[in-house]
Amino acid sequence: MTVTADETAQPALAAGPHQTPCLVIDIDVAREQYRRIAEAFAGADIHYAVKANPELPLLRALVAAGCRFDVASRAEIDLCLAAGASPGDLSYGHPIKKSEDIAYAYARGVRTFAFDSEGELDKIVRHAPGSSVLCRVLASSQGARWPLSRKFGCVPEMAVDLMKVAALRGLDPAGIAFHVGSQQLYPERWEPSVATAAAIFAELREAGISLRILNAGGGFPVSYRTPVAPISAYAAAIETAVRRHFGLFTPSLMIEPGRYVAAPAGVLHTQVVLVARKSYDDEPRWVYLDVGRFGGLAETEEEAIQYELSTARAGPSGPVILAGPTCDSVDILYQHAPYDLPLDLAAGEVIRILGTGAYTATYSSVGFNGLPPLRTVVR
Ligand SMILES: *Cc1c(COP(=O)(O)O)cnc(C)c1O
Repeated sequence: MTVTADETAQPALAAGPHQTPCLVIDIDVAREQYRRIAEAFAGADIHYAVKANPELPLLRALVAAGCRFDVASRAEIDLCLAAGASPGDLSYGHPIKKSEDIAYAYARGVRTFAFDSEGELDKIVRHAPGSSVLCRVLASSQGARWPLSRKFGCVPEMAVDLMKVAALRGLDPAGIAFHVGSQQLYPERWEPSVATAAAIFAELREAGISLRILNAGGGFPVSYRTPVAPISAYAAAIETAVRRHFGLFTPSLMIEPGRYVAAPAGVLHTQVVLVARKSYDDEPRWVYLDVGRFGGLAETEEEAIQYELSTARAGPSGPVILAGPTCDSVDILYQHAPYDLPLDLAAGEVIRILGTGAYTATYSSVGFNGLPPLRTVVR
């Protein structure tokens, strides 16, 4: 009887550290990422965007390091408080919230809220009286691998009007927020929004309202398959833009990194379910993994985020198309981006997907095709 590659791979799998698929988070890496961005943006208030990865041990480590938090729901507030954060260090950065959720946050001591419309301002006045508010303005996501489109933010003229209303209605008009899109590759893309914010600050100053916070959002990129500029390049570009546009009226800077802190801390262990060809002379092999678009790799949509893969084999490699395990035909990870895997890759082997600490476990579906949500192990 011949032993198939399948069977030979079994012992290795059984001996492997993790049942697949499984996201392994290394807290030390996240802590080091936080240290780097805090050093680059010395003097800024750094609010980790919890949605990137809300694992409690990760939040605890960030609290201990002095990080603050950007939250978007009751559950994220509860998690941060459970991790030891004080409510004054939480900013409710989601510009669209239910009244009940604003009231919930306020009852727990949260006093900073983002908004981008009159309707939302009304809710904040009613359910979080006297709070500090940040008005989110529209920003271009051009150059971002995971853009944010026009869903959030208002035009500058409206921000000016709304901040006047905020002041009249007893809120603290604290500052202006924007987000240039996630995995924003170009440091210079922050400048137009810094300029916009400076103009809003100036116009309100003339009306007797002095804003103080410039919230430059998230978007700071990490190196996936292609290296990106060091975080210091983004800090320098923002600092230069602030100096150019704000002049003597230096605002206090706030940033909300999510991906930058969490992504490098994660490695997703996945198993090859099948290696196949669709015809006898097809060049690329199809490699089906036990994790895909619905199991946490949502950012492979349009192949936007191209993760680096790592296998234990060292032999010659050839082109592959990578697909996930579900019956849905959009569950293909990469068919245009060139990916190569070892020619002797076989079912049962483990592939490690690197840089998967952000926007993976939180994006995983609950039970599509009966598959469980992505498990996380923290070490
Ligand atoms: C998601 C989000 C962030 C984090 O963005 P990254 O690109 O992961 O850094 C920051 N601020 C707000 C308001 C967000 O919604």
